[in-house]
Order: sequence, then structure tokens, then C-alpha cells
Amino acid sequence: ETKKYLGIKHDDLKLSVNAIRVLERRYLLKGENGNPVETPSEMFERVANSVSSIDKRYGYNPYDSKAEFYRMMSNLEFLPNSPTLMNAGTELGQLSACFVLPVEDSMKDIFEALTNMSLIHKSGGGTGFSFSKLRPNGDIVKSTKGVASGPVSFMSIFDQATEVIKQGGKRRGANMGILRIDHPDIIEFINSKEKEGYLDNFNISVGVTDEFMKAVQSDSKYDLINPRTGKTTEKLRARDIFDLITTMAWRTGDPGMIFLDEINRRHPVSHVRTIESTNPCGEVPLLPYESCNLGSINLSKMVKNDTINWEKLKNNTHSGIHFLDNVIDANKYPLNEIDRETKNNRKIGLGVMGLAEMFAKLNIPYNSEEAIETAENIMKFINEESVKKSVELGEKRGSFPNFKGSQWEKKYSSMRNATVNTIAPTGTISIIANTSSGIEPIFALSFVRNVMATQLLEVNPVFENVAKERNFYSKDLMMDISKTGSIQNLKQVPKDVRDLFVTSLDIDPEWHVRMQAAFQKYVDNSVSKTVNLPEKATLDDVKRIYMMAYKLNCKGITIYRYGSKENQVLELGGLK
Ligand code: UDP
Repeated sequence: ETKKYLGIKHDDLKLSVNAIRVLERRYLLKGENGNPVETPSEMFERVANSVSSIDKRYGYNPYDSKAEFYRMMSNLEFLPNSPTLMNAGTELGQLSACFVLPVEDSMKDIFEALTNMSLIHKSGGGTGFSFSKLRPNGDIVKSTKGVASGPVSFMSIFDQATEVIKQGGKRRGANMGILRIDHPDIIEFINSKEKEGYLDNFNISVGVTDEFMKAVQSDSKYDLINPRTGKTTEKLRARDIFDLITTMAWRTGDPGMIFLDEINRRHPVSHVRTIESTNPCGEVPLLPYESCNLGSINLSKMVKNDTINWEKLKNNTHSGIHFLDNVIDANKYPLNEIDRETKNNRKIGLGVMGLAEMFAKLNIPYNSEEAIETAENIMKFINEESVKKSVELGEKRGSFPNFKGSQWEKKYSSMRNATVNTIAPTGTISIIANTSSGIEPIFALSFVRNVMATQLLEVNPVFENVAKERNFYSKDLMMDISKTGSIQNLKQVPKDVRDLFVTSLDIDPEWHVRMQAAFQKYVDNSVSKTVNLPEKATLDDVKRIYMMAYKLNCKGITIYRYGSKENQVLELGGLK
């Protein structure tokens, strides 16, 4: 099958059919006739070559790191974010997934941000914006004696531009739009995605403060402030707004919340500037014009004889940090400002994918105390090893320019990167690695994928092995499972297997939040996590989850209630 999909050369990597399909369509370099001109292993070689070549600049022989980078990618033990796979060693050469752009309160600045967004999308990156500085709807415009139209109406222009650009056909443009809780247009913003199809290219999040969350808890009022004048325009009851946020999230999945004070308290370069926004999926809080390169270790491959292979995890962590730091220098940035700001802090985000599959291999149910404890141990270990490696790189290659005055300076004499860890969604790279995405539970143990007018049954590979070993595998049963994705009501499946293979919608939402918090404890950027809720979840469930995320020191929270959008990314329901 590999041969069939690849079309050109036989490739010896053991990739899944889906991985090959994705690579062929969007990742492998193409010739004039649109056919791929490289194999997947040649792609990994191109990336390893380009990223390792940076070592020369610092006086090292790139030969060793090239072999190591190739090894970890081709074994699917570590993969960088998609733009690095697509663009390394090419003329475009734009390697980052995440950007944040400033939006200042003038026509010129707003449209400059729009132009910059278009350049980033074209090159395969996603953009986050805080619209909090824009004067509110109905406010005055001095030069024309006119009336301002406010952040939400400008967001729709960004949305439409995104729709038109479509990132050169390789990736959809993704955006994050953030508005502070005390902006006078906050209600319009919270309601802005109610109509399906409107602002479709945006995730939206309300930027909330500790002050607001305390006002919710004590049932008091808080001030709305016009960012242009700095004056209070109105007082609102915090609980009313919290109810509105959670009601809209229950109905549509948006808005999420980001916890601005927690983000800034833990920002290692808080002496430089205050963070107002994150990238599109929320996992990287960034200053204006910063970009960040992500990479993820496949935890499913870090298991040996039913235990965690710590030595292997350590090696991949060290090489992953080295790889991502090189990416900063190998990168061709879409704007000079981005080049400058990115190199001032040299932020990178090494994280994980395949957590749920690792748990299955270790015989630990995702919804258990043991899972939470294991998650903390793993992320603590990765973080410590990441910092060690970044300190070592700092000694050899110099610290990031804003090191002086940063929180790192209190502990170390050098540090190469202002941040080292992030948990990315790994939406596509987890398909390439054929494992569960990020730190999410398995979504469905078997499901039907619609591919070019045919329907293919896909069974989770770890579950399939267990089903065969334990002698309850049958095609009919797998078909049955695909209707709900879950085995909880199937008595023919042994109890211990049902307890182990819980899906995203099987488990209590509290476990989702606790897992996010467990990772956040040791991640200096942020954690991408969607708290998936069953269709029958109540408004109170949503309120409880949003409040719980705040209390557990998460940096943000996003939920999705099954069935609340007509076009869902992940759909259950078996054969249609
Ligand atoms: N992203 C994007 N367009 C997409 C998917 C992702 O711009 O279609 C950006 C976005 O900033 C997101 C980040 O890439 O937060 C990481 O997403 P993910 O881990 O899913 O990307 P992958 O590397 O797996 O493609």
C-alpha cells in the first residue's frame, strides 16, 4: 500500500497509509506537474540537513546532529511542527507555526497587521491578536468626526482575508482573537461566533484577570474601561458576564478564556513587556512580533517492556531542544520585526504527543490518579532535561539577548532560550506519527473515515493488538464500536480492557482539566487541551470547568460539547 500511495519510489519507512496520504498531499516537495519529487525519508533528510547545518556557524561539525535529527524524525520519535517539515531547506524557508501580531488603535496600524497576517498565512504560520487596544464601537474618530466600528467588526475583515488566502493550499489560516474582559465591547465579542460560519477562521478567547475571577467568586461588579481614554464607561456584574461566556461556550465552543495574570506571572521575560495574546490554539503566549517553533516527542515510542524508557526520553529531549534552537537560526522570517523579536528571546516549545497511547501501553487508565501522577513525573523530567540542554547551549553559543533581568538569571549563569516547553495540539504531526494527538485521550477506538467516496474502518492500533491478543477481535465488533467510538457498553469486552481504553467522551470532564493542569505545572509556555464534553453536558458543567481551570493555575481553558457545531472536526456515528 505504501507503494501505491507514494506513486514514485518505494520508501522503507514504516508509515501508516494515512501518514503517507497526508505527506503526499501537503508535505513532500512537488515538481512542475504537481507530483512529489521526494520520498518521506528524503523529506526527513532535507529537514535534518537544513536544521543541522546551523551547527557550522557555531564551530561544530553538523555531521553528528544531522544523523541524530534524521534518526529521531524517521523513527517517529520526534517531529517538528508542520511548517518545518514543509519548508526546511526550501527557498521559502519559513519554519514557525506560531506568531503574535500587535494591533494598535489606528487605521494604518490595523491594516498593517492585516498585511502582516497575510504574509504569515501564506508561509504556513498561524496568527494571534489582541484587539483590546482598539477603541470601542460608537467611540469618536477625531479626524473624520465619524464613529468607530469597534474590534469585532475589524475581526471580520481579518477573518475574510484569511478565507481568501488559504495558506497556498497547504494549510488553513488559523487565528486567535483576544479581547480583555474590561473592554466596553466585551458582550458583542462574547456573542460574536453565535452565528455558525461567522468568524470561522478564528478561535476567540476572553482575556480575564484575577480581579475579574475574584469578582465572579464574591459576586461583585467590575469596571469596563475605554482603552482610548482610560476612563471607566460602565460597571457590570461579573457573574452575568461569566454566565454569558459559559453559555456561549456551551452552545458553540467559543469563547475560551485565557488567564492573563497567571500567564504574565510565569512569563520568564516579564521584564521586557506584558503578554496580551497567544497563538491560534492557545499553547504559546507571545509578545508582539514573536514567533515560536514547536516540536513534539512521541511518548508512545518511549515505552519499553511496559515501563517508561527514561534514558531514551532524555536523549530525545536533549536532541529536540538542540533541533528547535537551530530552527530559530535556520528560519527565514516573513518580517524583519519578527526576525528581531524572535531572536531576542529565542523561545522554543518542546512537548509531547501520544500520551494516551503511552498510558494504554503502560496499563494506566487516563482517568486515574496514577495517570495524573505519571503525567507530572514525565513533564517534570522533560522540563528539567530541556533546561539543562538550553543552559548547555547557552554556555557554548550565548544566552538569548533578553537574558539579563529575566527570571532565568536568578538561577543560571546562561540560558539559550526564554522558554523551552509547550504542549501543541499536534493535529497533523500526530497523524504522521500514527499516534494519539498531544495529551488528549483517545477520541474513538474505532471509526469510519471518509476517503475519496469510500469509507474505511480504522481501529486504534494499540486497542487492535489487545483485542487480538485477548481473543475478542472481530470485524463486526469493530464496526459496532465505530458507532460511538466507545466500548463502555459492550459487555463482550473484558472489564479491565474497558477500564483501560476510555475515550475522550467516556471520562468525567474533571480528568481533562486535571491532566491539563498536571502538564501546565512543568510547562513554561502553555498547554493545548480541549475539554471534550458529551452532548448532554449542562451549563453548570461548563461553569464548573472554567472555574476549576482557573483554580488549578491553568493558563487558559477551552471546551467543546459534542454536537454543538454542525461541521465537527471529529465525528462519530459509524457507517453512513
Ligand atoms: N496552525 C495553523 N494552521 C493549521 C494548523 C495549525 O496555522 O491548519 C498553527 C497554529 O498556530 C497552531 C499551531 O500551528 O496553534 C500548532 O498546531 P498543530 O500542533 O496542530 O500543528 P501540526 O504541526 O501538527 O501541523
